[in-house]
Amino acid sequence: MLISVVVPCYNEEPVIRETHRRLRLTLETLTELDHEVVYVDDGSSDATAALLRELQAEDEHVRIVLLSRNFGHQMAVTAGLEHAAGDAVVVIDADLQDPPEVIPEMVERWRDGYHVVYGLRTDREGETRFKLWTAKLFYKLMSRLSRTKIPLEVGDFRLMDSKVVESLRAMPERDRFLRGMISWVGFRQVAVLYRRSPRYAGVTKYSLGKMARFAVDGVVSFSSAPLRLAIWTGFAAIGVALLGIVYALFGRFITGDVVRGWASLFVAVLFMSGVQLICIGLIGEYIGRIYGEVKHRPLYFVQERLGFTNTPRHTHENRKAEAEQR
Ligand code: UDP
Ligand code: MG
Repeated sequence: MLISVVVPCYNEEPVIRETHRRLRLTLETLTELDHEVVYVDDGSSDATAALLRELQAEDEHVRIVLLSRNFGHQMAVTAGLEHAAGDAVVVIDADLQDPPEVIPEMVERWRDGYHVVYGLRTDREGETRFKLWTAKLFYKLMSRLSRTKIPLEVGDFRLMDSKVVESLRAMPERDRFLRGMISWVGFRQVAVLYRRSPRYAGVTKYSLGKMARFAVDGVVSFSSAPLRLAIWTGFAAIGVALLGIVYALFGRFITGDVVRGWASLFVAVLFMSGVQLICIGLIGEYIGRIYGEVKHRPLYFVQERLGFTNTPRHTHENRKAEAEQR
């Protein structure tokens, strides 16, 4: 049995050595399992790639996938999953916020017959209050909008059986909100509790903009509720307009002063153009994604692979070649 550990890295020069040291220590305690560590360098601009090469030269368990540019966390994990050969695959951040020491416990649950073992944070040290608050708000919103239940306080730290990894590989969508996708596929899922530590070194790679983008991805790819919002606002606006019509007719035929009505007209026009702009924007958000999907571009490009004996079967290059043979 082989266990793969996928580590997305973006400018993680200050932590990468320590991460590997701790991963190796932990993985070596799992004597009955073979292991590999797949580092995905997500277009780092610092010495991350060079450090990874050194690690690879020292340790035959290390595999490296160098992406051609920065594709973002979710794509880096996707690339890692497509290159991982294990019977179980663990995804873990490079910054040691998710302690590698939890992995043996995850493996234990996997042996009990669970297909997904996700890390549930009981505690998040060293995160800003703003981040905790926005995260909470986001998960609340998600659980209202979407029927896919995405557990609260769960990040991307998890172990997946190869069956689950296989089903993720079969989901070619571009806006990848992996934790949602993993909940969506089903199988037997269970949580293990852990304390999330502060970042070992370096700074967060999730800027406010990236976080917002990630949240929009989550909502839009798992829910079409925002589209329905347009219908409901439309009904509400019609309700208000009906009252306005009664009022206008009353003024025209009973009291006889019509000029006063311009204020309500003005307000109604403004209000409706606002509603329409919002709705057009929402529809645009979905159409933009449809456009992105129909282009059928590969999700990422690999610049270089190190430590693999042959090109892993599940990458898009190979999928294309297989399709052509058929
Ligand atoms: N990461 C990545 N590509 C990116 C941004 C982040 O591969 O564009 C990796 C990063 O190296 C880390 C993980 O994703 O291993 C989580 O990022 P980070 O710790 O910065 O996020 P936070 O924990 O602050 O949410
Ligand atoms: Mg982090």
